[in-house]
Amino acid sequence: MVMWEVRSILAEDRHGQVRKKLEAEREETVAEISRLREALKCELEYDTEEGDPDLWEREKVLALLRNMEQKLESIAHALRTMDDGTYGICENCGQDISPARLEALPHTTLCISCKALLEKRIAPEPLSR
Ligand SMILES: [Zn+2]
Repeated sequence: MVMWEVRSILAEDRHGQVRKKLEAEREETVAEISRLREALKCELEYDTEEGDPDLWEREKVLALLRNMEQKLESIAHALRTMDDGTYGICENCGQDISPARLEALPHTTLCISCKALLEKRIAPEPLSR
């Protein structure tokens, strides 16, 4: 048996595992999003009376919801790149993302150094509200 055949089988299998993990995560995220939307709806109904004691809570749910939607988008993106064969490649610098990082964050699209760079660039900006 030729060596590359074994390796490509292994690579395919690894992607299969990751794909399963991503698909499971996508389902969880979708469920979480509908749960959060439901929670927001309930609060809207409560919020009609004096003041708004739940405003902070609402903001928190909204922020969570935004996070979840972003996560869902990255998961969908990761699944797409898996289909076109670019999965595991950093979108910013084109280097391979380390397998350990992909293991921990299967939907990431940036290698660890680009991620660090991006965070450094974002961090000093003032909060928008
Ligand atoms: Zn990179």
